[in-house]
Amino acid sequence: MNEIVDHKADVVIIGGGVNGCSLAYQLAKRGMKIVLCEKGHLCSGATGRCGAGIRQQWSTRENSELAIKSIQIFERLEKELGQDIGLRQGGYLIVVHDKSDMKQAKRNVDMQKALGLDVSILTPDEIVDIVPILDVKGMHAVGATFCPTDGHVDPFKTTHAYAQAAIRYGAQLYKFTKVVGIKKKKKRIDSVLTDRGKISTDFVVNAAGAWSKQIAEMVGVKLPNKPFRKEILVTERVKPLFDAMVISFKDGIYFSQQEEGQILGGIPIPNEKPGYLTAPTFDFLHHMAKTLARYAPPLKHVNVIRQWTGYYDVTPDALPIIGEVEGIKGFIQCNGFSGHGFMLSPMVTKILTAYIADGRTPRILKRLSLSRFKGKKIVREVSVVG
Ligand SMILES: Cc1cc2nc3c(=O)[nH]c(=O)nc-3n(C[C@H](O)[C@H](O)[C@H](O)COP(=O)(O)OP(=O)(O)OC[C@H]3O[C@@H](n4cnc5c(N)ncnc54)[C@H](O)[C@@H]3O)c2cc1C
Repeated sequence: MNEIVDHKADVVIIGGGVNGCSLAYQLAKRGMKIVLCEKGHLCSGATGRCGAGIRQQWSTRENSELAIKSIQIFERLEKELGQDIGLRQGGYLIVVHDKSDMKQAKRNVDMQKALGLDVSILTPDEIVDIVPILDVKGMHAVGATFCPTDGHVDPFKTTHAYAQAAIRYGAQLYKFTKVVGIKKKKKRIDSVLTDRGKISTDFVVNAAGAWSKQIAEMVGVKLPNKPFRKEILVTERVKPLFDAMVISFKDGIYFSQQEEGQILGGIPIPNEKPGYLTAPTFDFLHHMAKTLARYAPPLKHVNVIRQWTGYYDVTPDALPIIGEVEGIKGFIQCNGFSGHGFMLSPMVTKILTAYIADGRTPRILKRLSLSRFKGKKIVREVSVVG
């Protein structure tokens, strides 16, 4: 455990997941003095438990814009950080089940194409050209959408690459250091209290994932975020069968084949309630195995090696909360990712860097601020899984 050497920082980041580490890197690179506090080890939150799929096919313009620009960053990140991040772009195939699904899919594709995305609608025959093991009838598919530049990135390699780059630029990353309080003076951030000492600062970034709500409460801010247990499994290795991630918004299933051959995927169990539950369930295993075998019958006999759980940090509209909280200068949110915070992290942290380091307010910060929930009608992201 490294000792706290600096009790003063320009920015204190709470959370050592992909968002905290990416932001630490970008701000440190801009010459700012950064301290990151992580209560466990890096990647111990959702980042180290996630599917790490990256897709640009969303129903809201906000998520699509952030995801498209994020993938452009992922594509050059290996070179920028000087380390392998495990990027593979085998595409995302999103199953369309009926007429109303198709209506939504067409709306999504039109909006995504207007943003410049290479995305198309597939016929049932074209589905099996891309993923031959799929059973179109078993999935009840009338078509699909497909974007070839979607894919997968290794969450551990990426987060550690960001962390090491941040350290090279002088950031202090304190593991096993829990934030226990935040002090403000008048309407500004003053300092952060940890179980290993106090750090004075002007900016605090709340990148604490499913625990962000508790961090916000330390300064009397109420976040609408709720933690939901999400389960995921991995199988034994099988020969290369397909490259794309297959997902369905209706069934909630997602699965892909890893580079080493394992099948990785998840599905929500019906009626999951919010809360900090960690135990893996047999219900999930059963539901996942049954649905996967229906979608891809050749996988019926593949053995499951491991299942585990993590949290989605879910907002009422399934869009993240990013930017400064009204009325508390220097209190920045970077949370509420609702199950897609890995893929959005490059662009979200770039936007926050523009705000913190340059004092600029990119337009999307207004659209994704906490104040959007104040009595206004919100537009929910509907293209979600898991
Ligand atoms: C099963 C599953 C599958 C997923 N699949 C995908 C996917 O395919 N694609 C995708 O983009 N996203 C996916 N996600 C979501 C994604 O994992 C998250 O949105 C993303 O990792 C969030 O990163 P983060 O850095 O914001 O938060 P986290 O990784 O959760 O990090 C927050 C950190 O804050 C720390 N912390 C909390 N409280 C304190 C405190 N008081 N003091 C100090 N530290 C504290 C925690 O220990 C934690 O390490 C999935 C999530 C799950 C659970």
